[in-house]
Amino acid sequence: MTEQHPVKPRSGHHNLDPHLDRYAARTAGMTASEIRALFAVASRPEVVSLAGGMPNLAALPLDTLSAQVGQTIAEDGLVALQYGSAHGVPALREQICEVMALEGISAHPDDVVVTVGSQMGLDMVTRLFCDPGDVVIAEGPSYVGALGSFAAYQAQVVHVAMDDEGLQPAALKEALVRLEKDGRRVKFLYTIPNFHNPGGVTLAVRRRAEILEICRTHGVLVIEDNPYGLLGFDGQIYPALRSTDPDNVVYLGSFSKTFASGLRVGWVLAPHAVREKLVLAAESATLCPPTLNQLIVSRYLATHDWKGQIKKFQENYRERRDAMLSALEQYLPAGCEWTRPDGGFYVWVTVPEGVDTKAMLPRAVTARVAYASGTGFYADGFGSRQMRLSYCYPTPERITEGVRRLAAVLESEMDL
Ligand code: PMP
Repeated sequence: MTEQHPVKPRSGHHNLDPHLDRYAARTAGMTASEIRALFAVASRPEVVSLAGGMPNLAALPLDTLSAQVGQTIAEDGLVALQYGSAHGVPALREQICEVMALEGISAHPDDVVVTVGSQMGLDMVTRLFCDPGDVVIAEGPSYVGALGSFAAYQAQVVHVAMDDEGLQPAALKEALVRLEKDGRRVKFLYTIPNFHNPGGVTLAVRRRAEILEICRTHGVLVIEDNPYGLLGFDGQIYPALRSTDPDNVVYLGSFSKTFASGLRVGWVLAPHAVREKLVLAAESATLCPPTLNQLIVSRYLATHDWKGQIKKFQENYRERRDAMLSALEQYLPAGCEWTRPDGGFYVWVTVPEGVDTKAMLPRAVTARVAYASGTGFYADGFGSRQMRLSYCYPTPERITEGVRRLAAVLESEMDL
């Protein structure tokens, strides 16, 4: 991956691009995610979309929020509508520390950098640490947006397998030893410990210390991405990796799933020295995160029962998870397997040998159901027997109907 690759046209459309010779080599890794390509068809009303990961915001108290936004402008307008620091609004950074304390994290607000969603955190962390050809370890499968950032900086992703208890420590160790032997530079482990996207599993608590220890021994930094950690269906909260190893873990957090994704407010909590570089990287990317949005989040946390609100979200998602799991049980043909999430948005399904989920997708959309095929969640083409089903957005009735349609498509596929 270290050599410069010429940028090759990937479709007829690109052949018409008069700027083709000008793009930087790193754009070769930039391809539209399969999910995005599907978005237009999957969002037609007759299609039950189990493909996207949009949070379900129906439980938000819009009247209260509307008043809070008005108050923010009336009372703090000249600050809210002005540039701020790249580091983020100090009061919000203090509140973020209170949110993280729920996961056992003890942090100083100075070590928090506010970002435009945790996606920006992912981009900045990759920018800070990855040269072309560096290796990043990620769970297999992994979050598609993270894979996009790694590709944009020409990092090579090596996937490590998960099971029902999350990332497998023995497989991680084996991969690191092999990569060391091959003389490869591993920059970090990117992991989503809780309610994995797309895997739907959670890293067992007893594995956490082991994984941290392996990473330390091999000199590998840990990037802990935790947007779903407070969305456990029984209110369970797992201890963050960052809570026990503050010097070797960079933690990414977000208000997208616990409050409002459209505000684009997330954060990075990093070891002190890394934090300074992050602020510089953030400055060059955006000057500062939107001040108004930060003040809206800050006021919301200060004046609203945000924990009660998260509970409502949990209940909503639990009802949908239940609908999906019982529909899968009832309708999916023998030979299919799936994970049973106890939080978050996603179920990861493995279909019988011979079925290719990517090839099947157009037929599923014709049958008015959409899903995300597994290959989009791997950097190496694996995943053609897998798919991600999201239960976060549709109603329980639509979820049941969607799974019923999907099962019919799968059955006819297996007959072929
Ligand atoms: N990480 C994971 C695992 C996600 O699922 C998402 C959103 N789907 C993000 C990061 C990005 O979230 P945001 O930028 O909205 O904070």
